[in-house]
Amino acid sequence: MPKARIVVVEDEPAIRRGVSDALRLSGYEVTEAPDGVAGLREAAAAGVDLVLLDIMLPKRDGLEVLSELRRTNPTRPVILLTARGSEDDRVRGLKMGADDYVVKPFSAKELIARVEAILRRTLRMTAEVRLVSVGPGTIDLHRREIRWVDGSRSDLSETEAALLKYLVSNRERAVSREELLSRVWGIGTAGLETRAVDMHIARLRAKLKSPNGSDDQPEAIVTVRAHGYMAGPALGVGEQ
Ligand code: CA
Repeated sequence: MPKARIVVVEDEPAIRRGVSDALRLSGYEVTEAPDGVAGLREAAAAGVDLVLLDIMLPKRDGLEVLSELRRTNPTRPVILLTARGSEDDRVRGLKMGADDYVVKPFSAKELIARVEAILRRTLRMTAEVRLVSVGPGTIDLHRREIRWVDGSRSDLSETEAALLKYLVSNRERAVSREELLSRVWGIGTAGLETRAVDMHIARLRAKLKSPNGSDDQPEAIVTVRAHGYMAGPALGVGEQ
């Protein structure tokens, strides 16, 4: 397996070097960037597997870099390096689609553990989910269609297929509307209507109902109160 490529964006030379050395020792390929402008350029480059991003940075701060990166690379994993006490920044960062954060000062061991956990998760995600079963039907995410056992079919829009894929790939947890906006639509959530997510989910739910099924079919998408959505018991990975 090729080495994972990690970009470290951090302006304090001692921390940047310490983090980079620890990652290299663990077998990762590392690119370093000392400010937000170089950081964004490196973070958005092709072939990057994960970005470690300081928030307080010269030229462009880390949250700006994150928001820009989410527009160009909506699914690229980002771990924020944050100062103790900057809880607001952390929360904003997570809402903007950061995957995780560590609080300074952190140990190399803690950081590597977080990196490994995120990389495992993304590896699982990109292990192409193509076929999803739903009750007496099979969804082909590549062809964006649902085939029911009675031979009837229905089509999914590109957004519906992407939403479904994201929920199924993260089926062990609830996904917030903000995360869906940033990961499926690829946009920051500032001022954005999370209602758009609800509308798409409603349409998707209607399509996932078996045409000849009873009214008490198991749920394909579960609403998680005050949070978002989760793949429901009716959905399974693979063919029916
Ligand atoms: Ca800094």
